[in-house]
Amino acid sequence: MDAPFTPLAPEKFRDPLTTAKGDVRASVDFVGLETLWLNTGTLCNIECAHCFMKSGPRNDRLVYLTLEQVTGFLDEIADLGLATRIIGFTGGEPFMNKAFPSMLDAVLARGHEALVLTNAMQPLWQRRDALSNLAARHGTERLTMRVSIDHYTPEPHEDERGPGSWTLVQRGVEWLAGGGFRLSVAGRTRWGEDPAAVRQGYRDLFDVWGLDVDAFDPGQLILFPEMDERIDVPEITTACWNIVGVRPQDQMCATQRMVVWRKGRPAPHLVPCTLLPFGREFDLGPRLADALGPVALNHPHCARFCVLGGASCTPA
Ligand code: SF4
Repeated sequence: MDAPFTPLAPEKFRDPLTTAKGDVRASVDFVGLETLWLNTGTLCNIECAHCFMKSGPRNDRLVYLTLEQVTGFLDEIADLGLATRIIGFTGGEPFMNKAFPSMLDAVLARGHEALVLTNAMQPLWQRRDALSNLAARHGTERLTMRVSIDHYTPEPHEDERGPGSWTLVQRGVEWLAGGGFRLSVAGRTRWGEDPAAVRQGYRDLFDVWGLDVDAFDPGQLILFPEMDERIDVPEITTACWNIVGVRPQDQMCATQRMVVWRKGRPAPHLVPCTLLPFGREFDLGPRLADALGPVALNHPHCARFCVLGGASCTPA
Protein backbone atom coordinates (compact mmCIF):
# COMPACT_ATOMS: atom_id res chain seq x y z
CA MET A 1 0.00 0.00 0.00
CA ASP A 2 1.33 3.51 -0.79
CA ALA A 3 2.29 5.75 2.17
CA PRO A 4 0.20 8.90 2.82
CA PHE A 5 1.38 11.77 0.60
CA THR A 6 2.88 14.83 2.33
CA PRO A 7 4.27 17.25 -0.27
CA LEU A 8 7.85 18.48 -0.07
CA ALA A 9 8.13 21.97 1.43
CA PRO A 10 9.12 24.30 -1.46
CA GLU A 11 11.82 26.10 0.57
CA LYS A 12 13.83 22.87 1.00
CA PHE A 13 16.79 21.78 -1.17
CA ARG A 14 17.32 25.26 -2.64
CA ASP A 15 20.83 26.22 -1.51
CA PRO A 16 23.75 23.79 -1.87
CA LEU A 17 25.42 25.22 1.23
CA THR A 18 22.53 25.86 3.63
CA THR A 19 19.25 24.15 4.52
CA ALA A 20 15.90 25.93 4.75
CA LYS A 21 16.41 26.23 8.52
CA GLY A 22 19.81 27.90 8.04
CA ASP A 23 21.96 24.92 9.05
CA VAL A 24 25.08 23.88 7.17
CA ARG A 25 24.09 21.36 4.52
CA ALA A 26 25.97 18.05 4.57
CA SER A 27 28.30 17.21 1.73
CA VAL A 28 30.24 14.12 0.72
CA ASP A 29 33.94 14.28 -0.09
CA PHE A 30 35.21 12.24 -3.01
CA VAL A 31 37.19 9.20 -1.82
CA GLY A 32 38.12 7.43 -5.07
CA LEU A 33 36.38 6.22 -8.22
CA GLU A 34 35.56 2.59 -7.46
CA THR A 35 32.62 2.43 -9.89
CA LEU A 36 31.84 4.39 -13.03
CA TRP A 37 28.25 4.01 -14.19
CA LEU A 38 27.31 4.46 -17.83
CA ASN A 39 23.69 5.26 -18.53
CA THR A 40 23.23 3.69 -21.95
CA GLY A 41 20.00 5.68 -22.60
CA THR A 42 16.51 6.00 -21.10
CA LEU A 43 14.74 3.94 -23.76
CA CYS A 44 13.29 0.73 -22.34
CA ASN A 45 11.15 -2.08 -23.75
CA ILE A 46 8.63 -1.64 -20.93
CA GLU A 47 7.16 1.22 -18.92
CA CYS A 48 7.07 0.44 -15.19
CA ALA A 49 4.34 2.01 -13.09
CA HIS A 50 6.82 3.61 -10.65
CA CYS A 51 10.10 4.03 -12.57
CA PHE A 52 12.03 6.97 -11.08
CA MET A 53 13.76 7.42 -14.47
CA LYS A 54 10.40 7.44 -16.30
CA SER A 55 12.06 5.10 -18.80
CA GLY A 56 9.97 3.58 -21.55
CA PRO A 57 9.66 2.91 -25.28
CA ARG A 58 9.28 6.64 -26.07
CA ASN A 59 11.60 8.28 -23.54
CA ASP A 60 14.93 9.26 -25.11
CA ARG A 61 15.64 12.12 -22.73
CA LEU A 62 19.00 10.41 -22.25
CA VAL A 63 20.13 9.19 -25.66
CA TYR A 64 22.17 6.10 -26.48
CA LEU A 65 25.84 6.27 -25.56
CA THR A 66 28.23 5.21 -28.31
CA LEU A 67 31.12 2.78 -28.09
CA GLU A 68 33.56 5.60 -28.87
CA GLN A 69 32.26 7.64 -25.95
CA VAL A 70 32.59 4.67 -23.63
CA THR A 71 36.16 3.94 -24.69
CA GLY A 72 36.92 7.63 -24.20
CA PHE A 73 35.92 7.41 -20.54
CA LEU A 74 37.85 4.14 -20.13
CA ASP A 75 40.90 5.92 -21.60
CA GLU A 76 40.44 8.76 -19.13
CA ILE A 77 40.30 6.31 -16.21
CA ALA A 78 43.61 4.84 -17.39
CA ASP A 79 45.21 8.23 -18.06
CA LEU A 80 44.26 9.50 -14.59
CA GLY A 81 45.51 6.31 -12.97
CA LEU A 82 42.18 5.74 -11.20
CA ALA A 83 41.72 2.38 -9.45
CA THR A 84 38.23 1.90 -10.92
CA ARG A 85 37.21 -1.71 -10.37
CA ILE A 86 33.67 -1.74 -11.73
CA ILE A 87 31.98 -0.28 -14.78
CA GLY A 88 28.22 -0.33 -14.20
CA PHE A 89 25.61 -0.12 -16.94
CA THR A 90 22.09 1.14 -16.40
CA GLY A 91 19.29 2.67 -18.45
CA GLY A 92 16.53 2.37 -19.53
CA GLU A 93 17.34 -1.15 -20.54
CA PRO A 94 21.02 -1.44 -21.57
CA PHE A 95 20.36 -4.26 -24.03
CA MET A 96 18.20 -1.87 -26.11
CA ASN A 97 21.42 -0.11 -27.18
CA LYS A 98 22.84 -1.99 -30.19
CA ALA A 99 26.40 -1.04 -29.22
CA PHE A 100 26.01 -2.50 -25.74
CA PRO A 101 27.74 -5.88 -26.31
CA SER A 102 30.73 -4.02 -27.80
CA MET A 103 30.81 -1.77 -24.72
CA LEU A 104 30.87 -4.83 -22.45
CA ASP A 105 33.67 -6.28 -24.56
CA ALA A 106 35.73 -3.10 -24.20
CA VAL A 107 35.21 -3.00 -20.44
CA LEU A 108 36.13 -6.65 -19.90
CA ALA A 109 39.11 -6.46 -22.27
CA ARG A 110 40.61 -3.74 -20.08
CA GLY A 111 40.31 -5.84 -16.96
CA HIS A 112 37.38 -4.10 -15.28
CA GLU A 113 34.41 -5.88 -13.79
CA ALA A 114 31.06 -5.18 -15.45
CA LEU A 115 27.75 -4.83 -13.61
CA VAL A 116 24.62 -4.70 -15.78
CA LEU A 117 21.21 -3.60 -14.50
CA THR A 118 18.67 -5.35 -16.72
CA ASN A 119 15.09 -6.56 -16.78
CA ALA A 120 16.33 -9.74 -18.54
CA MET A 121 13.39 -9.61 -20.95
CA GLN A 122 13.30 -9.52 -24.77
CA PRO A 123 16.24 -7.13 -25.41
CA LEU A 124 18.60 -9.40 -23.45
CA TRP A 125 17.03 -12.50 -24.95
CA GLN A 126 17.75 -11.20 -28.45
CA ARG A 127 21.43 -10.77 -27.58
CA ARG A 128 22.03 -14.22 -26.14
CA ASP A 129 24.60 -15.09 -28.81
CA ALA A 130 26.59 -11.94 -28.12
CA LEU A 131 26.48 -12.63 -24.38
CA SER A 132 27.59 -16.23 -24.90
CA ASN A 133 30.49 -15.00 -27.04
CA LEU A 134 31.52 -12.53 -24.34
CA ALA A 135 31.39 -15.30 -21.73
CA ALA A 136 33.53 -17.54 -23.95
CA ARG A 137 36.13 -14.82 -24.50
CA HIS A 138 36.30 -13.27 -21.03
CA GLY A 139 34.71 -15.80 -18.67
CA THR A 140 31.81 -14.88 -16.40
CA GLU A 141 33.70 -14.11 -13.19
CA ARG A 142 33.83 -10.37 -13.96
CA LEU A 143 30.37 -10.05 -15.49
CA THR A 144 27.40 -9.66 -13.14
CA MET A 145 23.80 -9.23 -14.22
CA ARG A 146 21.57 -7.52 -11.66
CA VAL A 147 18.06 -8.50 -12.68
CA SER A 148 15.02 -6.49 -11.63
CA ILE A 149 12.44 -8.73 -9.98
CA ASP A 150 10.21 -6.29 -8.14
CA HIS A 151 8.51 -8.84 -5.88
CA TYR A 152 8.89 -12.53 -5.18
CA THR A 153 5.38 -13.25 -6.48
CA PRO A 154 4.03 -12.62 -9.98
CA GLU A 155 1.12 -10.25 -9.31
CA PRO A 156 2.97 -7.25 -7.77
CA HIS A 157 5.80 -7.67 -10.28
CA GLU A 158 3.34 -7.58 -13.18
CA ASP A 159 1.45 -4.65 -11.64
CA GLU A 160 4.70 -2.73 -12.10
CA ARG A 161 5.98 -4.22 -15.35
CA GLY A 162 2.94 -5.32 -17.27
CA PRO A 163 1.16 -8.57 -18.16
CA GLY A 164 3.48 -11.40 -19.16
CA SER A 165 6.56 -9.79 -17.63
CA TRP A 166 6.92 -12.51 -14.97
CA THR A 167 7.26 -15.32 -17.48
CA LEU A 168 9.75 -13.32 -19.53
CA VAL A 169 12.00 -12.43 -16.60
CA GLN A 170 11.93 -16.07 -15.47
CA ARG A 171 13.01 -17.19 -18.94
CA GLY A 172 15.82 -14.65 -19.05
CA VAL A 173 17.19 -15.19 -15.57
CA GLU A 174 17.09 -18.97 -15.89
CA TRP A 175 19.04 -18.69 -19.15
CA LEU A 176 21.63 -16.47 -17.43
CA ALA A 177 21.92 -18.92 -14.53
CA GLY A 178 22.33 -21.82 -16.93
CA GLY A 179 25.12 -19.94 -18.71
CA GLY A 180 27.04 -19.46 -15.49
CA PHE A 181 26.63 -15.67 -15.39
CA ARG A 182 27.00 -14.09 -11.98
CA LEU A 183 23.62 -12.87 -10.78
CA SER A 184 22.21 -10.45 -8.29
CA VAL A 185 18.61 -9.29 -7.98
CA ALA A 186 17.03 -5.86 -7.45
CA GLY A 187 13.72 -5.95 -5.57
CA ARG A 188 11.53 -3.25 -4.10
CA THR A 189 10.03 -2.48 -0.72
CA ARG A 190 6.99 -0.54 -1.90
CA TRP A 191 4.53 -3.07 -0.48
CA GLY A 192 5.55 -2.36 3.13
CA GLU A 193 6.19 -5.97 4.12
CA ASP A 194 8.42 -7.26 6.91
CA PRO A 195 11.99 -7.26 5.49
CA ALA A 196 12.85 -10.75 6.76
CA ALA A 197 9.65 -12.16 5.25
CA VAL A 198 10.49 -10.49 1.95
CA ARG A 199 13.96 -12.04 1.90
CA GLN A 200 12.51 -15.45 2.76
CA GLY A 201 10.02 -15.03 -0.09
CA TYR A 202 12.84 -14.35 -2.52
CA ARG A 203 14.85 -17.29 -1.14
CA ASP A 204 11.96 -19.61 -1.91
CA LEU A 205 11.65 -18.15 -5.41
CA PHE A 206 15.38 -18.49 -6.11
CA ASP A 207 15.24 -22.12 -5.00
CA VAL A 208 12.40 -22.83 -7.43
CA TRP A 209 14.12 -20.99 -10.30
CA GLY A 210 17.54 -22.49 -9.54
CA LEU A 211 19.32 -19.17 -9.00
CA ASP A 212 22.60 -19.01 -7.08
CA VAL A 213 21.66 -15.79 -5.26
CA ASP A 214 21.73 -15.47 -1.46
CA ALA A 215 18.49 -13.67 -0.62
CA PHE A 216 19.80 -12.76 2.85
CA ASP A 217 22.94 -11.08 1.49
CA PRO A 218 22.11 -7.37 0.94
CA GLY A 219 24.75 -7.24 -1.79
CA GLN A 220 23.07 -10.06 -3.75
CA LEU A 221 19.43 -9.12 -3.18
CA ILE A 222 19.23 -5.33 -3.12
CA LEU A 223 15.87 -4.06 -1.88
CA PHE A 224 15.19 -0.52 -3.02
CA PRO A 225 12.92 1.95 -1.23
CA GLU A 226 10.64 4.11 -3.35
CA MET A 227 12.02 7.39 -4.64
CA ASP A 228 9.50 10.17 -5.05
CA GLU A 229 11.07 13.61 -4.89
CA ARG A 230 7.67 15.24 -4.39
CA ILE A 231 7.27 13.74 -0.89
CA ASP A 232 8.48 15.67 2.16
CA VAL A 233 11.73 14.58 3.79
CA PRO A 234 14.17 16.24 6.23
CA GLU A 235 17.22 17.98 4.80
CA ILE A 236 20.59 16.53 5.76
CA THR A 237 22.84 18.76 7.87
CA THR A 238 26.42 18.15 8.97
CA ALA A 239 25.03 17.07 12.36
CA CYS A 240 22.97 14.27 10.79
CA TRP A 241 25.86 11.87 10.25
CA ASN A 242 26.34 11.27 13.98
CA ILE A 243 22.62 11.39 14.76
CA VAL A 244 21.65 8.68 12.26
CA GLY A 245 24.94 6.76 12.49
CA VAL A 246 25.72 6.93 8.78
CA ARG A 247 29.14 7.71 7.28
CA PRO A 248 29.60 10.11 4.35
CA GLN A 249 32.23 7.86 2.79
CA ASP A 250 29.61 5.10 2.46
CA GLN A 251 27.39 7.16 0.15
CA MET A 252 27.54 6.38 -3.57
CA CYS A 253 28.81 9.84 -4.44
CA ALA A 254 32.00 9.21 -2.41
CA THR A 255 33.15 6.45 -4.74
CA GLN A 256 30.99 6.54 -7.87
CA ARG A 257 30.01 8.75 -10.77
CA MET A 258 27.65 8.26 -13.72
CA VAL A 259 27.87 9.27 -17.37
CA VAL A 260 24.68 10.54 -19.06
CA TRP A 261 24.15 11.94 -22.54
CA ARG A 262 21.27 14.41 -22.51
CA LYS A 263 19.31 14.70 -25.74
CA GLY A 264 20.45 17.66 -27.82
CA ARG A 265 23.76 18.09 -26.01
CA PRO A 266 27.03 17.66 -27.91
CA ALA A 267 28.65 15.23 -25.49
CA PRO A 268 27.98 13.06 -22.42
CA HIS A 269 28.47 14.60 -18.99
CA LEU A 270 29.18 13.27 -15.49
CA VAL A 271 26.73 13.35 -12.57
CA PRO A 272 27.43 12.37 -8.94
CA CYS A 273 25.48 9.09 -8.85
CA THR A 274 22.82 6.97 -10.50
CA LEU A 275 20.00 8.79 -8.71
CA LEU A 276 20.44 12.29 -10.10
CA PRO A 277 20.68 11.97 -13.88
CA PHE A 278 18.72 15.04 -14.92
CA GLY A 279 19.20 18.09 -12.68
CA ARG A 280 21.49 20.73 -14.16
CA GLU A 281 22.68 21.65 -10.66
CA PHE A 282 24.28 18.19 -10.42
CA ASP A 283 26.04 18.41 -13.80
CA LEU A 284 29.77 17.87 -13.27
CA GLY A 285 30.90 18.51 -16.83
CA PRO A 286 32.23 16.27 -19.60
CA ARG A 287 35.58 15.27 -18.08
CA LEU A 288 36.16 12.80 -15.28
CA ALA A 289 39.11 14.85 -14.10
CA ASP A 290 36.77 17.75 -13.28
CA ALA A 291 34.04 15.61 -11.70
CA LEU A 292 35.80 14.23 -8.65
CA GLY A 293 35.11 16.92 -6.06
CA PRO A 294 32.76 17.07 -3.03
CA VAL A 295 28.98 16.78 -3.58
CA ALA A 296 26.39 18.83 -1.65
CA LEU A 297 23.42 16.69 -0.51
CA ASN A 298 20.93 19.07 -2.06
CA HIS A 299 18.23 16.72 -3.32
CA PRO A 300 15.39 14.79 -1.60
CA HIS A 301 16.92 11.51 -2.85
CA CYS A 302 20.07 12.26 -0.81
CA ALA A 303 17.92 12.18 2.31
CA ARG A 304 15.27 9.57 1.65
CA PHE A 305 17.22 7.09 -0.41
CA CYS A 306 20.80 7.40 0.82
CA VAL A 307 21.22 8.86 4.30
CA LEU A 308 17.87 7.94 5.87
CA GLY A 309 16.80 5.06 3.63
CA GLY A 310 20.14 3.31 3.85
CA ALA A 311 19.92 1.98 0.30
CA SER A 312 22.73 2.08 -2.21
CA CYS A 313 23.53 1.06 -5.75
CA THR A 314 27.03 0.22 -4.52
CA PRO A 315 28.04 -3.23 -5.76
CA ALA A 316 28.97 -5.79 -3.16
S1 SF4 B 1 21.48 10.92 -4.07
FE1 SF4 B 1 22.88 9.82 -2.66
S2 SF4 B 1 24.66 9.29 -3.87
FE2 SF4 B 1 23.51 10.84 -5.02
S3 SF4 B 1 24.45 12.80 -4.44
FE3 SF4 B 1 22.75 12.45 -3.03
S4 SF4 B 1 23.68 11.37 -1.25
FE4 SF4 B 1 25.12 11.28 -2.94
